[in-house]
Amino acid sequence: MTVPRSHPRYMSLMTRDKLVEGWNEGLVATQGLIAHGRGEAFDYLLGETTTPEALEAANAAACRLLLAVRPVISVNGNVGALVPDEVASLCNILKCPAEVNLFHRTEERVRRLAQHLREHGCLDVLGEVPDERIEGLEHARALCCGEGIFKADVVLVPLEDGDRCQALKHAGKFVITIDLNPLSRTSRTADITIVDNLVRAMPVLISRVNELKDGMVSTEDLLKVAGGFSNSANMANVLRRMTSGYSRMREK
Ligand code: ATP
Ligand code: MG
Repeated sequence: MTVPRSHPRYMSLMTRDKLVEGWNEGLVATQGLIAHGRGEAFDYLLGETTTPEALEAANAAACRLLLAVRPVISVNGNVGALVPDEVASLCNILKCPAEVNLFHRTEERVRRLAQHLREHGCLDVLGEVPDERIEGLEHARALCCGEGIFKADVVLVPLEDGDRCQALKHAGKFVITIDLNPLSRTSRTADITIVDNLVRAMPVLISRVNELKDGMVSTEDLLKVAGGFSNSANMANVLRRMTSGYSRMREK
């Protein structure tokens, strides 16, 4: 079906189409389709827009990524299907690898996603030959790459599972996530959570990284912004915004 641009849910429907296409191509896990539905429900409560809280979190995330010595972007099926161009450009700006790291891991899906990212311009893709493990996780979910997540100081991991996010934290990583659900364990465990739809948040994050880079902002100033960010305060504000939006809808 072709969705007309004038449809009020155009973006949402196009995003679904992209995920279904990714599923047909063997990039997205069936469970990924369900996880997307959970995200959409929270996006509804946000009014499907990027909030001031998400902008603030993206700003802090951009600073942390620029301060990082070994940043890595961890990519799962939904991320690879929805924002491959954005993953490639952020990796290339930061000169860092993307690591395919799957919760529902199959070697075939890892291979396809790695190939897909390369086709979209990602120069350094890891994940096909994991040679390290993240402590505290059982077998396939623990696998990672020595030159990627294992040695990274900052990991951008959009749409992560709570357990794995906790394990990354225990391994001493600074974790940045993008997650529409401010109540998820991931949102609450990460150091910075951008509560926004991945398809809106990645372009915002890329623009901010570019602005800070082009403006040659000093390390001191980057540290000041990053250090002044409180994830728990940001989550509390997002939740307030969601619940007040919900009350407004009920009054209509
Ligand atoms: P947790 O394990 O962190 O407690 P969960 O079990 O509810 O969370 P998972 O299935 O592990 O959720 O991860 C999927 C997460 O990704 C959900 O929190 C969902 O809200 C979020 N999500 C799904 N699609 C998107 C999207 N397009 N943009 C941002 N977040 C999304
Ligand atoms: Mg989970």
